[in-house]
Amino acid sequence: MRLLVTGGAGFIGSAVIRYVIEHTEDEVFNLDALTYAGNLASLSAVADSPRYQFVQADICNLLELRAVVTRFQPDAIMHLAAESHVDRSIDGPADFIQTNVVGTFNLLEVVRDYVQAMPPERAAAFRFHHVSTDEVFGDLGLSAVKFTEQTAYAPSSPYAASKAAADHLVRAWGRTYGLPIVVSNCSNNYGPCQFPEKLIPHIILNALQGKPLPVYGDGLQVRDWLYVDDHAAALYRVLTAGQAGETYNIGGHNEQTNLDVVNAICDLLNTLVDNKPVGIARFNDLITFVDDRPGHDVRYAIDASKIQHELGWQPKETFASGLAKTVRWYLANEPWWQDVLNGNYQLERIGMN
Ligand code: NAD
Repeated sequence: MRLLVTGGAGFIGSAVIRYVIEHTEDEVFNLDALTYAGNLASLSAVADSPRYQFVQADICNLLELRAVVTRFQPDAIMHLAAESHVDRSIDGPADFIQTNVVGTFNLLEVVRDYVQAMPPERAAAFRFHHVSTDEVFGDLGLSAVKFTEQTAYAPSSPYAASKAAADHLVRAWGRTYGLPIVVSNCSNNYGPCQFPEKLIPHIILNALQGKPLPVYGDGLQVRDWLYVDDHAAALYRVLTAGQAGETYNIGGHNEQTNLDVVNAICDLLNTLVDNKPVGIARFNDLITFVDDRPGHDVRYAIDASKIQHELGWQPKETFASGLAKTVRWYLANEPWWQDVLNGNYQLERIGMN
């Protein structure tokens, strides 16, 4: 198959591309604008593969999109390109509306024309897969309920609202224009190559630098966590075995409070790192409670039984095994994260590397 991945230089997109090159014979075309969140170093393991190509392009630019789709002639598109950080969406929502809503609309329009020009058998086999989040469902509060594929949308943050809008557009293009779409909604991911603004790498890297470990509010917000390579395998399964028009929830069966996540990282670092920052006996001593995020949802939890029963996918990692792999990866890959922290990773895109 010829697979076009948007956002393939990001955290999850790069894991998907590594997965596809390592586990399949597919050709992969990575379309990414290389915003602050895009990092080609995350693809160094596959960059020399003859089955991998990269193009820097923006999903908000209709002409660029048409040119890329026409040139690559994909059999499927997995759409991950997005603005993805909730705090940034609160500080400046405009980019989220532009990329997540307008960009997805552009892509759907290009793909609609592309698929309508195909012979019917090829069009029926084509897939447009929108990779989305469980945040579209909003807050579960303290109830014991989990999100299913039937849960009504109630997004709380500008990020979640923009992803909800994109999900609705994708389903409407499926229903109205017969585009063979699939949507997946996944819980919080963690693992190698995640940009350090997100909770787990932020805590690991602050701890290693002896900086405070900020925890929002009382830290009792609950999230489900999925190791990114498990998500990559699930996405490929949805793309290749999912029914057109269907939605699949993806989760890790790993509900944790934010405070427990931070303490678990500290406990791992306490055993793995000999040289603690000056004046610190345990990394946990660096935990600092800060003002809560506005509109912060209390609990998300995913019911992932549909993908398990219908597509035979379930995660391989427990939270303990995935977190240990993640912490060890950051310890072993200091050049990757130092380049991100000092901005050098962005030199490549301006031809200075
Ligand atoms: P990320 O921020 O790490 O990566 C996003 C990528 O998209 C970057 O490489 C960036 O350069 C690219 N991009 C941004 N704007 C673009 C544009 N206009 N044109 C082309 N490329 C552009 O995000 P991530 O964490 O890898 O998430 C990927 C997708 O998965 C997103 O759609 C996100 O909503 C969804 N998702 C993420 C999580 C999570 O926990 N990270 C969970 C569920 C769903």
